[in-house]
Amino acid sequence: MPAYEYRCRTCDTSFEVRRAITEPAAVTTPCPGGHADTSRVFTAVAVTRGGSSTAAFSAPSASAPAGGACCGGGCCG
Ligand SMILES: [Zn+2]
Repeated sequence: MPAYEYRCRTCDTSFEVRRAITEPAAVTTPCPGGHADTSRVFTAVAVTRGGSSTAAFSAPSASAPAGGACCGGGCCG
């Protein structure tokens, strides 16, 4: 289960939340202080401690690699 890092904009606290990959990542997660104004921080902490995952899933990336084979589906419409 990947761990996502969030940051609270109210108290500037960073915290990690382990969330199932099937759950939407856009769900608002309150900080340990109870503030709801949090935002997800995109970092490379998607390594589960004590797990046996070997980068089985592709890391979320905002920029597509400079290649050309962007997709095989119908997203390039
Ligand atoms: Zn907070």
